[in-house]
Amino acid sequence: MAINSNSVCKICRRENAKLFLKSERCYTDKCSFERRPYPPGQHGQARLKFSEFALQLREKQKLRRYYGLEEKGFHRLFTVADRMTGNTGEAFLGLLELRLDNVMFLMGAGCSRRHARQMVTHGHVLVNGKKVSAPSYVVKIGDKITVTEKSKSAVPVQLGLTNAKRREIPAWLEVDFDKAIATIKALPVRTDISTPVEERLVVEFYSR
Ligand code: SF4
Repeated sequence: MAINSNSVCKICRRENAKLFLKSERCYTDKCSFERRPYPPGQHGQARLKFSEFALQLREKQKLRRYYGLEEKGFHRLFTVADRMTGNTGEAFLGLLELRLDNVMFLMGAGCSRRHARQMVTHGHVLVNGKKVSAPSYVVKIGDKITVTEKSKSAVPVQLGLTNAKRREIPAWLEVDFDKAIATIKALPVRTDISTPVEERLVVEFYSR
């Protein structure tokens, strides 16, 4: 993902939400958003009025940055969700949750979504025993996801597993932390997804 690692905390402040873009720091009182919960810059604390379009744009950017995707891949996934039956916003969130890099992060096999994505692209991840190197791979019910034996003891993986134990594991995912294995038990529904977003605004943004 094309972002400057020195300024990732500014992204959380800009989007007015904890996006967990770093590792250990996100779970401590060093979190910049906890300390300064307002946008960065000279006018960060000013009361600004946003147009409907600006609200939709900000929400779309927040969701895209939360999952760490570039616009092209993000929009492509939205197009897939838009063709599905039912609520487009929920379908979109469901597809984002089921991406392999996100599952890796949720199970703790990466200390951030960015690191989880690197783990996948560098070939450290197995799905049902076979190596998969595409972070955009969408997992299915029954899939078993794990990291290769060699990578399980790596420091960032161990740190990720420690962080994951501090979070609530969603109901659709079963995680064996000792073996670093996750199993997809069901498809995610909105109540299982903790993403801080009003997906309706994202759908409205792309439906203009
Ligand atoms: Fe930084 Fe806090 Fe955002 Fe983590 S959650 S990236 S520490 S502002």
